[in-house]
Amino acid sequence: MQLAERLKRLGTETAFAVSAEAAKHVAAGHKVYPFHLGDMNIRTPRNIIEATYKAMLDGKTGYCPNYGIPALRELLAEDINKTHNTRYTMSHVAIQPGGKPSIGKFVQVLMNPGDEALYPNPGYPIYESQIQYHGGVAVPYTYHEGAENFEMDLKAIEAKITPRTKLLVLNDLQNPTGAEADPAQLAAIAEMAKRHNLFVLCDEAYFDIRYAGTSVSLASFKGMQERCVILYTFSKKYAMTGWRLGASIGPQDIIDAVAKLNVNDESCSNHFIQYGAIEALTGDQSGHADILRILKERRDIAAAILNTIPGVRCYRPNATFYLFPNVTGLMKAKKISDYETFRKAALHDTGVSFCTRRHFGTPIAGETEAYIRFAYSGINVDQIEEGLAKLKTWAQA
Ligand code: PLP
Repeated sequence: MQLAERLKRLGTETAFAVSAEAAKHVAAGHKVYPFHLGDMNIRTPRNIIEATYKAMLDGKTGYCPNYGIPALRELLAEDINKTHNTRYTMSHVAIQPGGKPSIGKFVQVLMNPGDEALYPNPGYPIYESQIQYHGGVAVPYTYHEGAENFEMDLKAIEAKITPRTKLLVLNDLQNPTGAEADPAQLAAIAEMAKRHNLFVLCDEAYFDIRYAGTSVSLASFKGMQERCVILYTFSKKYAMTGWRLGASIGPQDIIDAVAKLNVNDESCSNHFIQYGAIEALTGDQSGHADILRILKERRDIAAAILNTIPGVRCYRPNATFYLFPNVTGLMKAKKISDYETFRKAALHDTGVSFCTRRHFGTPIAGETEAYIRFAYSGINVDQIEEGLAKLKTWAQA
């Protein structure tokens, strides 16, 4: 069988392979501490489940409009306007089956083959996959260690812009580093986007997973609502990863084209879940507050323990549910230079399962430091303590 040529350009999320390996390890009778996948072991708030169930009983089980139900689009526009200082209406919102579909649709709507698109590396691997799959040139930009967290290097990013550069992917509150730009940096990114006529995918998957400070959107800066598409998702804020509901929010021409892709791809997002989403936005918010409280406790404990392990250095970001410790010293101490060997050795010797920098893009030439990613969204505090204690003992052996 000869599969289509284009599939050679399609990437994947290799973190899922780490999950499969961890599951095999469990099936073989071993204990695993799951820090690898950004899924959540926290229940969706009950009021959202009940509203969804009611919608099913009420017969909201047929197709709905390709753009999503008007009531949810309207609410989402209003909700975003409150936090983003924007002027969206429902015509700027196309509901999606999750946050992820907004990535491929953004690329398909705005990029021609041969166009260049800047994307974060280390970063969520689907950007590179979708850019390359649709015939674009994926140009990576990176983050470096700053005083308190990872930081972007705006000068280095601007130096990569050419006359063919059309798109910029910005994942502020970033997976995997937890990095966030301050308002002055965002203002500079906005100016850069306008200067070079770039359209920006603002991946705001973690906009509401924040333990201190305030999230600021690039779309809120002057002239940026016209050139930003926001990736919105219910996945993280309301612990709804498996429900698959999100939205693309942006200029109407772009959203109309995205909705045409909806018609072609899935007709519409799940109908009754959209009523659950209305409850999520308008109902009792204590479920969301509980999610943040649980995650914050996990973050504090995980970061504190990691920083006691010799050869490990870890920031404690104010947002996302990831830690991205520098493990250069630990790998040296273990005399391991290869990421996969290191990951597998830790899994087999301690049961601690994590992803490495390698799962977030091909390392960029000249990278000297080594990093791994701990997701604390799917593991309870007692297991964090137990697993990281084992990792520490292993590090000291
Ligand atoms: N963007 C980023 C940066 C992510 O980390 C994720 C999921 O982990 C997504 C988008 C997609 O989220 P979902 O499709 O579950 O809404």
